[in-house]
Amino acid sequence: MARIVVLGGAESGVGAAVLAKVKGFDVFLSDNGTIKEEYLKTLREWNIPFEQCGHSEELILNADEVVKSPGIPSTAPLVRKLAAQGTHIVSEIEFAARYDNAKKICITGSNGKTTTTSLIHYLLKESGLNVGLGGNIGKSYALQVATEKHDYYVLEISSFQLDDTYDFRPDIAVITNITPDHLDRYDHKMENYVRAKFKITRNLRPEDCFIFDSDDKITIEHLSKIVLQAKMLPYSQEKKVEQGAYLEDDKIVVKYEESETDIYLKDLALGGRHNIYNSMAAALAAKATGIKDDVIRNSLKSFSPIEHRLEPVLSVKDVMYINDSKATNIDSAWYALDAQTRPVVWIVGGTDKGNDYSVLDELVTGKVKAIVCLGVDNSKIHAAYEHIVGSANIVDTLSADEAVKAASRFASAGDVVLLSPCCASFDLFHDYEDRGRQFKEAVRRL
Ligand code: ADP
Repeated sequence: MARIVVLGGAESGVGAAVLAKVKGFDVFLSDNGTIKEEYLKTLREWNIPFEQCGHSEELILNADEVVKSPGIPSTAPLVRKLAAQGTHIVSEIEFAARYDNAKKICITGSNGKTTTTSLIHYLLKESGLNVGLGGNIGKSYALQVATEKHDYYVLEISSFQLDDTYDFRPDIAVITNITPDHLDRYDHKMENYVRAKFKITRNLRPEDCFIFDSDDKITIEHLSKIVLQAKMLPYSQEKKVEQGAYLEDDKIVVKYEESETDIYLKDLALGGRHNIYNSMAAALAAKATGIKDDVIRNSLKSFSPIEHRLEPVLSVKDVMYINDSKATNIDSAWYALDAQTRPVVWIVGGTDKGNDYSVLDELVTGKVKAIVCLGVDNSKIHAAYEHIVGSANIVDTLSADEAVKAASRFASAGDVVLLSPCCASFDLFHDYEDRGRQFKEAVRRL
């Protein structure tokens, strides 16, 4: 019996272990840290041997193949040892796709993955297809392949998950955009990060589709260097395209093969320029899947905003509070500020990932009346914006409660309080979800 060792005992690792068990392998799962109770329960239920808080090399180096969780870097000593002895290392999606014949729509990119993935999933579901949602969202792809049966999957895929793929092939691949993020995992080389994202296109065949933002310079530049056989479906807000999607007056025009569909911007549920891009990508994926125009239009209209992504929380004394806690880099905060039509009190800060704040100067000058810093070290934000908003209009806070109270003092009727931190959250919160929820609770307490 071939032996599969799974490294990492969270969503994707446990899913892969269950699938390996279902497929009759000798499975072992090992995690260097502690495994969460819900995953321990699954491992016990499926009778899968495991260890936590350390790796026993003698139980791992004898693997025929290793499924490595995306959180473990390829530079980890154990991974190096496995690679040196020639053990094949794959990601969970590579492993799971071997046992799955469903059509796969896979979305990667720097920003907009979750929104675009959720939109596409919603469009397919509304059209009555039997579709699973997975990857970085919700239940792992592998667990669904092991325990459910779908005709379609819509999968959000990070570049880390693409790192150990070889034969993995989507039927429709989407790259939302590419901006610098997580460069620490790619030797601080942008080229490596771009190549990692483009791995999603590597096995595309002529009948498959590649959907991409042709206004994104990094994407276009990389495309000029490679040859893809797939049907190319660009989307743009700047120019017309032959096949793909573009803006014309107050509507999106979608052209796929012989058919043309119009979608009015006023009928999009999600606001902001970035969501026009996401809606274009989703409409194209739906067209390529054969979904009817009226279903596409109605679904883009009835979709509900996703938590922590420009999520309207509550209006208090005619001040609208918006939770965009997921904006953990400059680019996403750019779109959040750009989308605002009312004066903004901006809550920003956290763990800085090497931000160049000057990119936002123009938007801050035009839209932001006061800044509430929410982070341990806010020196870069002060240096960047104090001269724009004035030193009396920028304050430091150390909790969501304090930040919301400070913001409410700056705001007057008709303003917006926007939490769009363009930083990671780990200095003061568990993660961006914790930050967003604490923000919402603080707003409700006002
Ligand atoms: P991801 O899953 O790639 O992190 P999300 O859909 O969760 O993307 O959105 C993350 C943040 O980026 C949110 O703050 C959102 O407002 C912003 N955003 C969403 N779509 C885009 C886009 N196409 N371009 C730039 N920013 C975006």
